[in-house]
Amino acid sequence: MTYIGRFAPSPSGPLHFGSLITALASYCDAKAHNGLWLVRMEDIDPPREMPGAKQLILQQLEAFGLHWDRQVIYQSERLDLYQQQIDTWLREHLAYACSCTRKRMKSINHQYDGYCRDKHNSADNCAIRFINNTTINQFNDQIYGLCELPRLHAQQDFIIKRKDGLVAYQIAVCMDDVAQGISHVVRGYDLLDTTIWQKALIAQLGGNTPEYAHIPLAYADDGRKLSKQNGATAIEVNQASSLLHAALEHLGQQPPKALSTENVETIISWAVKHWQREKVQNIAVKQLNNA
Ligand code: GLU
Repeated sequence: MTYIGRFAPSPSGPLHFGSLITALASYCDAKAHNGLWLVRMEDIDPPREMPGAKQLILQQLEAFGLHWDRQVIYQSERLDLYQQQIDTWLREHLAYACSCTRKRMKSINHQYDGYCRDKHNSADNCAIRFINNTTINQFNDQIYGLCELPRLHAQQDFIIKRKDGLVAYQIAVCMDDVAQGISHVVRGYDLLDTTIWQKALIAQLGGNTPEYAHIPLAYADDGRKLSKQNGATAIEVNQASSLLHAALEHLGQQPPKALSTENVETIISWAVKHWQREKVQNIAVKQLNNA
């Protein structure tokens, strides 16, 4: 099987140390398997976008020696396709309009109970939910092993179009993973909970389900996940070597100390040559034990 991996940043800001770790892990895993590594810009949420971030992210990837294959795909250019699929599923009763309020969602602890399934709401001013008939609540992750999620979460009807009219991440990510023939998804641990939903969507789309590997996150000193939302700073190109070295350490790859002063190309080729998923697994286990 041909390995096709991808990095799929949302352009809400420039890459920070946390996103560098994910980019590097997906790159190394793809290249260590002689695979392709694609970049897809997940720009479907304009209110959360930072002007100029798309360009900046691509420049950062280049400067850190993470060169992608094929052309970058922009989800903002594929909105019609997502909408057509949503319309088809609405027609086929595989999705429905949901008018539940935030207050109601809060009262059910955000675990959707299918309340609007048979209400035949009009799609106007409603969120659209996918009818999730999945029977599983477990999957095998390439890093975390067998993952079991609460049934209420795994089997709920989830949103594929938001009430504000924006296409939801779940449908865009799955349609594109299928369209691009992605065989391996390597991404942050924070997305692990959505994997079963995505498997259900991909099955409905008739696509091949990729393998999933979730990567342990980097945490800020206050214990919160590093993210653009909590002000993680952009990775600086003039510190590319030491940041790549630190990212490899975070991924448990045990890079030699002397590597941190080498040029970016040397570090990346060392990283690909020595890439070991098992070492990432060790880090994952350590984090889980410390949690
Ligand atoms: N666009 C998502 C993010 O930046 C990642 C999606 C994915 O890798 O599945 O968090």
